[in-house]
Amino acid sequence: MNQPIDVLIVGAGISGLLAAGELQKAGFQVQTVEMEQTVGGRLATQPIRNGRADIGAQFFTVRTAKFQQYVNTWLQKDLIFVWSYGWSDGSLGGSTHDGYPRYAARNGMNSIAQYLARPLTNIQLNTRLAAIRPLSDSEKTGNWKAGGWEAADKNGQVFRSRALILTPPVPRSLALLAAGATPLHRDDQSSLTRITYAPSLCATFWVNGKVHLPEPGALQRPLSPISWIADNQRKGISPEATLITMQSSPAFSQAHCNDSDKDVMAELRAALTPHLDGNAIITEEHLMRWRCALPLTLYPERTLLAQNLPPLAFAGDAFKEPRVEGAALSGLAASAAIAAALTQLNNQP
Ligand SMILES: Cc1cc2nc3c(=O)[nH]c(=O)nc-3n(C[C@H](O)[C@H](O)[C@H](O)COP(=O)(O)OP(=O)(O)OC[C@H]3O[C@@H](n4cnc5c(N)ncnc54)[C@H](O)[C@@H]3O)c2cc1C
Repeated sequence: MNQPIDVLIVGAGISGLLAAGELQKAGFQVQTVEMEQTVGGRLATQPIRNGRADIGAQFFTVRTAKFQQYVNTWLQKDLIFVWSYGWSDGSLGGSTHDGYPRYAARNGMNSIAQYLARPLTNIQLNTRLAAIRPLSDSEKTGNWKAGGWEAADKNGQVFRSRALILTPPVPRSLALLAAGATPLHRDDQSSLTRITYAPSLCATFWVNGKVHLPEPGALQRPLSPISWIADNQRKGISPEATLITMQSSPAFSQAHCNDSDKDVMAELRAALTPHLDGNAIITEEHLMRWRCALPLTLYPERTLLAQNLPPLAFAGDAFKEPRVEGAALSGLAASAAIAAALTQLNNQP
């Protein structure tokens, strides 16, 4: 049997990628597994013919000095740029410029994930884990902390590690542990089951012709059923094609998440029509259904280190703060907590 690696990280969204990078830099052996065929999770950019559209996070803000350090490096590398200092709500004089930069990535938001993944030595894509359990030795010896973890994907591939970081949306992480009959502490279970997410319906339209949107090519109306419309060409990520991203609000998405593609697209197309020039036509359209798009309830700390189990940290945008920055800071907090737990185990006689 192979020696267990130090840390298995489940999920290669921004929280998992930053956690993996920090632990690898600190000298730990890290394996990251991701169920999709590419990294990024909700930092998602869809290529459509010779165009590109951001279909998950559209931009991000920075509120902490810690995240600003990473963002400064990305700015220096010209990976990202300041897209705006606020959005119009579409009304006359309805600009909400507040002086705070909204950053976007030059080649689409997913390019941030690609950049973070590049130095990582062990990322396995197309690997959907199905069950995770503490190693059985732990049960025999009663030494839960030192026992480690065993995770299996749906094809029976098994990963063994001394520690674990779970970054999928929390209900999915809990399902993985439940499938392995992992005995989570009652308090941890109860804190984590409180975390729920709103879905999001996100449409992309290829438009031949002009689309009328206020500067800088985007509209944000948090209280409207269509909360966001943006032109990826004017954003600068799709120079060859006018691709429009449209996102519905959490309430609309919840009400319509089980409607047929045809019905959802009819509603979203109707919402785009007033912004189209008389001769403009939609020649192609796509729908992305994010089942867990935005957390509705937050855990009060940036990570949760599970009690009475081998080192296990939960991370992601449901921990203390939502959005890209919250997810990033949570990944960093989880990596620090796991590094400390492993160092403590290494120092035990
Ligand atoms: C439509 C939409 C618009 C948004 N707009 C913005 C915005 O403008 N600004 C902003 O700051 N934030 C925005 N967000 C939120 C932002 O995208 C997220 O907060 C952030 O990207 C979450 O990162 P994460 O690493 O926590 O999770 P994720 O990116 O979801 O990463 C988790 C990863 O785990 C993987 N995974 C899940 N289960 C398994 C499994 N069983 N086995 C292996 N891998 C698994 C997933 O495939 C995924 O890659 C938006 C989100 C959506 C959906």
